[in-house]
Amino acid sequence: MERFTPVADGVFLLKVPFTGVWTGVVLVLSDDEPILVDSGGSAETVDSTIVPALADLGLTLSDIGWVLATHIHGDHVGGIARMRALAPSIKVGVFHESRTRMQQPLAYSREIRAKFPEHSAAPPAVLDGAEPDLLLEDDAMIGPLRTIHTPGHDTDACCFLDTRSGTLITGDSLQLNGTISQGCALLFDPGRYLASLHRLLDLPVQNIVCGHPYLPLGETAIGEEAARRFLATCVGCYEHDRGFVAGMAHAGVADPLAVAHALVEEIGGVAPAKMFLPMHTVAAYQEAAEGENA
Ligand SMILES: [Zn+2]
Repeated sequence: MERFTPVADGVFLLKVPFTGVWTGVVLVLSDDEPILVDSGGSAETVDSTIVPALADLGLTLSDIGWVLATHIHGDHVGGIARMRALAPSIKVGVFHESRTRMQQPLAYSREIRAKFPEHSAAPPAVLDGAEPDLLLEDDAMIGPLRTIHTPGHDTDACCFLDTRSGTLITGDSLQLNGTISQGCALLFDPGRYLASLHRLLDLPVQNIVCGHPYLPLGETAIGEEAARRFLATCVGCYEHDRGFVAGMAHAGVADPLAVAHALVEEIGGVAPAKMFLPMHTVAAYQEAAEGENA
């Protein structure tokens, strides 16, 4: 059985099964109410994985005060409606820009697939929404956690910084070269990713815990030096991919599918059967470059 494993004092990571690669749920224990960051991808994994892992620590969902979402992708918010059905006292907190997506995550999932329909995986069969109890502003505190808006992976992506231990809970905000199932980094908003990384480099980050294992460094960085190296490597991956897409454009290769295949191969990744995620990254870089040149 999967268990919550300690990352730092009062911060625990649970690896919840998901198609292709696990998705992380982070438990934060403090003098305030317990907090979960993200919820796994489905109602089923709440029942099969999250509830038993909480029980292993002597907790039930009714003990949890808050579930916070790092961003509104199905593998991170797919369990929220089920948590609230099982424990109506759980409060849901999302970044203020995420409200509409949290109400209708399946609509947003379909929207992501609409750009490259023939290259997209099917959306989840079920992805229930929830009305947030609290819309978080940038820098808002929930217990010991500070909300840090870090656009890049998506426009509304956030990290939560545990101000006691300096542990940064990133969801998908730090992409490195992406997960094994993505092929490369997934950035819907690359134009703001670098500023997000620099903002994080200016914070007293002591540890990092991500929502998936990211290539090539994995899901955690423990200690200030490892955390800075992780962030610096994200900068390097970003600069590489941006330059690669620009170089292909100079060479006259602009088709997102062709560039995506070349990029995945260039970084030594595995091309997914459905290429929509690398294609989104490539198209977003192309659009950001057009914006700069306009
Ligand atoms: Zn995501």
